[in-house]
Amino acid sequence: MGKVGMKLIESGLRHDGRKLDELRPISMSVGVLKNANGSALVEYGRTKVIAAVYGPREPQTRYMLLPNRAVIRCRYHMASFSTHDRKSPTLSRREIELSKVVREALEPVVLSELYPRTSIDIFIEVINADGGTRTASVTAASLALADAGIPMKDLVAGVAVGKVDGFLVLDVDELEDMYGEADMPVAMAPSLRQITLLQLNGVLTPDEFTQAFELAKKGIEAIYSVERETLKKKYLDVKVED
Ligand code: ADP
Repeated sequence: MGKVGMKLIESGLRHDGRKLDELRPISMSVGVLKNANGSALVEYGRTKVIAAVYGPREPQTRYMLLPNRAVIRCRYHMASFSTHDRKSPTLSRREIELSKVVREALEPVVLSELYPRTSIDIFIEVINADGGTRTASVTAASLALADAGIPMKDLVAGVAVGKVDGFLVLDVDELEDMYGEADMPVAMAPSLRQITLLQLNGVLTPDEFTQAFELAKKGIEAIYSVERETLKKKYLDVKVED
């Protein structure tokens, strides 16, 4: 049973018909915004996130310049129409925190030392929220950075795992997040074998933590391969000029 006695898993299936270790339908595209240097649209089921990257460029405020690398700035924002109840358009404490969380999940892979005295600006807009927006944001921002041609050591992919009705589940949606016992967003650079984001909200035993982490790794591998296919497709889809 979840926090308020609502049953979300019956006969091994989740409330939306998924198996415990099943991702929501994942879709991705890049180059969706023509003004940005790089952009991506990522959907994890009903969660839909758009990321735009500008830079490396000269920042408007020069005080923030660093002599040895580019400054990476990130703004995570949920559109007012992205939730059931209208969300205030002003940046909340949660959005300020998630901007930092997403930035820190990407910084380890960006070769920022190649661009001293510049800024790389990442804008994330959640346009439909149904759980897992921070992990979908990390995936979208990673793709947008690659789409902008910014050198990176690896792509980063993220997914949230959780504990619902006593079962460990992959890719937690909003209902499971609200009524489950725990949720754990994870992001990794799989080829580097580096964890760049790991948070835990709720309680897991050490064994459950290990199993949940394995589940997250499985989901991340699958999302990573969609990321790679999405980028490959961009270069294979070269239009023949008349
Ligand atoms: P994440 O989106 O990374 O799972 P949270 O655990 O904070 O982050 O949020 C879980 C879900 O709750 C969100 O994905 C969204 O669907 C919903 N949510 C978060 N903040 C709000 C809000 N201010 N108004 C309505 N729904 C929200």
